[in-house]
Amino acid sequence: MARKYIADSLILGSTIIPEVHGRLYKYGEGGQKIAACAIGSIFMAEKIGQNWMDEWYSLFPHEVTWSSWMMNCSFPSCPLCERAGFLRYLVVHLFEDHKLSRVEIAAKIFPIEVKLWEEYEAKLKEKENKEKIKTDVLEHVSRN
Ligand SMILES: [Zn+2]
Repeated sequence: MARKYIADSLILGSTIIPEVHGRLYKYGEGGQKIAACAIGSIFMAEKIGQNWMDEWYSLFPHEVTWSSWMMNCSFPSCPLCERAGFLRYLVVHLFEDHKLSRVEIAAKIFPIEVKLWEEYEAKLKEKENKEKIKTDVLEHVSRN
């Protein structure tokens, strides 16, 4: 699976719409979106709509989920203050609390994402290996 980075989507979003703080989108008089926060910019870059959770994890499967967190995966930490959380919360936090621009946030989270992708790919591989062993065992049992 090709790696996709939230950082890239954030940079793309910053090129298509101005930024606004404190809300997902700012709307013009005609109801059109005229500005977006960091997450809104990612949504716009990736055309993410109502069903955002599913769309988000299909685009960015490397982001730690609640269920993987409960299985001892740790959430990434903010590079500026060590607060930990979902990567998308860190994006909001860097934007709203540290007041970084979207491009600055992309630069901060990219190394975190590389690490998360590596962990995700290692987990996938481990799962494939386990399934292969299971298949081999089942084949062996059915032959004997
Ligand atoms: Zn912070």
